[in-house]
Amino acid sequence: MPRPAGPPLLLLDVDGPLVPYTATPDRTPEGYLTHWVKPASWVARHRDRPPQDVPPLRLWLNPAHGPALLALPYRPVWCTTWQDEANEHLSPLLGLPRLPYVPWPSMHHGDPDGLHWKTRHLVAWAAGRPFAWVDDEVEPQDAEWIAAHHPAPALTLPVDHRVGLRPADFVALARWAEDLSGSVA
Ligand SMILES: [Mg+2]
Repeated sequence: MPRPAGPPLLLLDVDGPLVPYTATPDRTPEGYLTHWVKPASWVARHRDRPPQDVPPLRLWLNPAHGPALLALPYRPVWCTTWQDEANEHLSPLLGLPRLPYVPWPSMHHGDPDGLHWKTRHLVAWAAGRPFAWVDDEVEPQDAEWIAAHHPAPALTLPVDHRVGLRPADFVALARWAEDLSGSVA
């Protein structure tokens, strides 16, 4: 199968890599800013109250992450339950443009092989293009399944949801893309 042209996809989970939601609860993690947002999907989770009474969701975002992601030799794509709401609520806070997103036919479903619910969908969506997938929930069985079912190179990069993306993760992503372009050339 010919290798598709262009940089690899960077499939970005939000909660965990960009929002370290289990970091210390009482103070903003170093380098991060606290934001309060009210996406429609968050309001919909509180069916017991009228929308105006739903409290906003607290988010920690590191404003350096947007420019650092854009500096990587990738085509970034939201790969998150936020879907298009990431463009509305997160891209402006991170200094990112609107990004494409992986649409989910369903979310949080069980998988007969114990895969993450995103795995089969994102491989189908990638349609043979090389990708790196950054997620706090990706497991070794996902990486194995992807290696067996995706016809192009793929990197799975687990991120600790207590910490979020670290400088070493950006280095690893840059190296992988360099190796990939070297192997194509
Ligand atoms: Mg996550």
